Amino acid sequence: MQEKHITDKIKTSYPFVDILFGTHTLFRFPEDLYKAIEEKRKIEDIIDVDGEIYENLPIKRDSKIQASVSIMNGCNNFCTYCIVPYVRGRERSRQPKDIIDEVKELAKKGYKEITLLGQNVNSYLRVEKEKNIPFEKYEGVDSFASLLKAVDKIDGIERIRFISPHPKDFTDDVIDAIATCEKVCKLIHLPLQSGNTKVLKEMNRKYTKEQYLELVEKMKKKIPNLTLSTDIIVGFPGETDEEFLDTLDVVERVNFEQIYMFIYSRRKGTPADKMDNQVPEDIKHIRFNKLKGLFESRIEENNNKYVGKMEKVLVEGESKNNKDLLTGRTDSNKVVIFEGDKSLIGKIIDVKIVSQHMWYLKGKIEN
Ligand code: SF4
Repeated sequence: MQEKHITDKIKTSYPFVDILFGTHTLFRFPEDLYKAIEEKRKIEDIIDVDGEIYENLPIKRDSKIQASVSIMNGCNNFCTYCIVPYVRGRERSRQPKDIIDEVKELAKKGYKEITLLGQNVNSYLRVEKEKNIPFEKYEGVDSFASLLKAVDKIDGIERIRFISPHPKDFTDDVIDAIATCEKVCKLIHLPLQSGNTKVLKEMNRKYTKEQYLELVEKMKKKIPNLTLSTDIIVGFPGETDEEFLDTLDVVERVNFEQIYMFIYSRRKGTPADKMDNQVPEDIKHIRFNKLKGLFESRIEENNNKYVGKMEKVLVEGESKNNKDLLTGRTDSNKVVIFEGDKSLIGKIIDVKIVSQHMWYLKGKIEN
């Protein structure tokens, strides 16, 4: 509850709420809860600061195979549609040792796949270097590329993913690290948001259509078996039909493995919410359906490239729809369903892909 208009709403519409806390006071929740119970009073604990990193907070993990590890908090990019920089404060990175120790601990507990998390992961430690904020280099880690290399060396961890990088910060050393680190998955999530340079400028994304496409080409050349996923917003204020065609053009050219599509929605407190050229809802929906149609028309062709191939699959558990089958994912994050013994759960195994379906692949273990 970091935004004032939201805390005001809670207080007026839900007066029975006892504790209100914000993103910067999450670490004080046990203390706030204790006070609310012991002192029988309402607690409001919201502060407006740039934010700190708090270590050793307890983490509840849902999976015993895959874990997310936060490497940084906050964001300095101020994309005009996004509230994150206002509610999560300025970008700051965790100390390399804290991250490496957490991953080693997870490896000891048997976790196989790690996702490094941050609003802008590929600028890890950049702000610290620019502003001379002290950090301690550990196991050679002083950048995102060196962090990938260090995590790649940790015994027991078999797959490394990361979300989300920003295209403007995708430096060559990161591309080289992805190419050379065996455990780093070759599916890269590269948020596009729009394929039109004017819209990207209005969004304050700091890259052009051409720069994005050049980056993709460079990555495709350097990273064998690269696949890409992306985020796209349709109907950003001022986007015309013609400008939207640029988004479809980039989708055609890049051939994304997965697209997370969003219809632009206004967020109070952001610059885009104040823009007076909002796109009518019906037009946003028409564009969304066009994008969805284009993406879905490529799925079969994209999935067909897997059929007949052997894929490394991390077995996640029983299939939700049929307990007699197992489910797992390829390096490119495709869901694979196949017959197999439950003892395979948590292992990476070779599965031959025998058929493709819209949202999953069917596989077979060959003896
Ligand atoms: S969209 Fe991502 S990069 Fe842009 S301001 Fe929000 S969190 Fe930061």
